Amino acid sequence: SFIDLTKFVPQIMERFEMLTKNESIHFQHKLPNKEMYIYGDRDKLTQLMDNILSNAVKYSPQGGTITCSIKEEKERVIVSIKDEGVGIPKENIPHIFDRFYRVDKARSRNLGGTGLGLAIAKEIVLAHGGSVWVSSDWGKGTVISFALPYDEAVKE
Ligand code: ATP
Ligand code: MG
Repeated sequence: SFIDLTKFVPQIMERFEMLTKNESIHFQHKLPNKEMYIYGDRDKLTQLMDNILSNAVKYSPQGGTITCSIKEEKERVIVSIKDEGVGIPKENIPHIFDRFYRVDKARSRNLGGTGLGLAIAKEIVLAHGGSVWVSSDWGKGTVISFALPYDEAVKE
């Protein structure tokens, strides 16, 4: 179905804001001031956002800010989820979309997880004809971005 991304993204963030009320994590978004319809599977795209945002929350410090932004490019739209968390060491970055891959078992032992979240996220993005990538500074934070095909002419 058609999904208005500039409505969809803040809806998902609101749910995470509720879920993490007690953790003093701040959420903000930077969105174009217009409707942006993409064609996709709403449940799958919800899972995609959930998997990325749950990592952002899991690896964020107290008082950290998570920022979601949507940027329009030629024939595609880019959604980025930025956190101020622990970051990912450079040598681990090429592997984080692999199944069952987790950066440091010791560091994330108490944080839990199976290492499937981002592998599933990547599968969903590819199934929508898009791509996904990461940029991260060890100790400073992480940005996960994905691009999806977008046609400005489609108004639902
Ligand atoms: P699961 O998602 O299955 O519960 P997980 O969160 O460990 O487990 P992924 O979501 O696939 O697995 O992430 C893979 C690894 O990438 C994580 O274990 C973590 O080491 C690293 N990682 C992912 N997102 C972030 C982030 N925002 N900040 C720091 N490290 C991250
Ligand atoms: Mg995860």
